[in-house]
Amino acid sequence: MNLHEYQARDILRRHGIPVTAGEVARTAEEARAIAARFGGRVVVKAQVHAGGRGKAGGVKLARDAAEAGVHAAKILGMTIKGLTVERVLVAPAVDIGSETYVGIVVDRAAQRPVLMVSAAGGVDIEAVAAERPEQIHRLPIDPRYGLLPHQALGLALRLYRNVAQARLAADVMQRLYQAFYAVGASLAEINPLATTPDGTLIAVDAKIVLDDNELERHPDLAALRDTSAEAPAEAAARAAGLTFIKLAGSVGCCVNGAGLAMATMDLVKYYGGEPANFLDIGGSSNPQKVVDALKIIASDPSVRAILFNIFGGITRGDDVANGIVQATRQFPVTVPLVIRLTGTNEALAIEILTKAGFSALTDMDEAVKQAVAKARAA
Ligand code: GDP
Ligand code: MN
Repeated sequence: MNLHEYQARDILRRHGIPVTAGEVARTAEEARAIAARFGGRVVVKAQVHAGGRGKAGGVKLARDAAEAGVHAAKILGMTIKGLTVERVLVAPAVDIGSETYVGIVVDRAAQRPVLMVSAAGGVDIEAVAAERPEQIHRLPIDPRYGLLPHQALGLALRLYRNVAQARLAADVMQRLYQAFYAVGASLAEINPLATTPDGTLIAVDAKIVLDDNELERHPDLAALRDTSAEAPAEAAARAAGLTFIKLAGSVGCCVNGAGLAMATMDLVKYYGGEPANFLDIGGSSNPQKVVDALKIIASDPSVRAILFNIFGGITRGDDVANGIVQATRQFPVTVPLVIRLTGTNEALAIEILTKAGFSALTDMDEAVKQAVAKARAA
C-alpha cells in the first residue's frame, strides 16, 4: 500500500528524523492560508502516489503566500503519471546545500532489507542508478541485528566529508531502519536528505510503501489508505475478501487458489492470450464470493472473455455454479463465459449450470484455448 508524502513524513517525524513542518490543502485558498502561517516562503507539493513530481511540475517554491496560492491552483487538478492531484502539501521552504539519497528496500534476491545511499541524490537518482551505479552504495541488513551504528556511520562517511554531518546522517539511517521495521514497509526512502546552511540535515521528501500483509497488525496505518488514489476494482476486491490484481490483457480469470490462478495465467499466455487480471476466490466455498468476483471482472471494459477455472477440493463445484447463476441474474455479463470445473460435486455443478443454459468443461487446456479464442474474436 502506497502512502502519500505527508503521511510518510509523519512516520519519519515520529521516529525522530528531522522533517520540516507541513500541512495539506485541498484548495488554493487553503494553501495560501497555510503558507501565510509559515511566513510565506514555502514549497507547494503535489500529493500523488508517484515519484518524479518535481520534474512533472508538481513541486514549486513560492516567495510569498500569494504565490503559494497561485502554484497550488496550478498543481491541484494536474495529472502526474496518470494520477490526478487532489491535495498539495505546503511546507516551509528549506535552503538546500547538498542533496543525498537514503533508502531501504526489501531485496527479494538477498532475502533481507538493503540500505542504499548516494551522494548524488535529488531528482536525477534514477539516471544515477542507470548510468553511474557505482555512485550508489548498498548494504544488506541482517534483520536479526538491525542496522548497527558502525555500519550506518561507514556508509554516512561515503556521503559526507564533514564528520559531524556524517554522524547526523548515520543517525537518520538508523532511525529510518527503525521506522521501516516498525511500520512493516517494503520501501522507505528519503530523497533528498538535504544539508541546510547551519550544517544540519533535514528530510525534504519521504516515500513509504507498506507491505499489505503487515496491515492487519497496524490498523492505524491501514486507515491511511487513500482509496480515491487506487483502481476502483482493487478496492472492491479487497472489500469482498478476494485477492485481485489488475493486469493489462483481455481474458478475465476467476480461479480458486493462488497456484492454480498463476498456472491459469501462464496457460492463457501459452495459448496466445493475455490475462486481464489475477483473481483468487480463495479456498472457501461461498457463492457470494463468486458473485463479487464476477461483478468485478465483468465491469472491466478491457475484458473480452471470462474464464472460470475451478478445481474443487474444499471449494464445492455446486457453490461456484450457484454463484455464477446468481451473478448472471443480478447483473448483465455481456462477454462470453468459459467455465472449467472439476472436482468436488462436479456432477451437481454441471447440472446446475446446464439447467441455467451454461456449458462447462472439465479439461483445463481446452477451456483456456476457448477463452483465448473468444477474447480474440470479440
Ligand atoms: P519528487 O520529484 O517527487 O521526488 O519530489 P521532491 O519532494 O523530492 O522535490 C523535488 C525537488 O524539489 C527536490 O529534489 C529539491 O531539489 C526541490 N525541493 C523540494 N523541496 C524544496 C525546498 O524546500 N527547498 C528547495 N530549495 N528545494 C526543494
Ligand atoms: Mn524526491
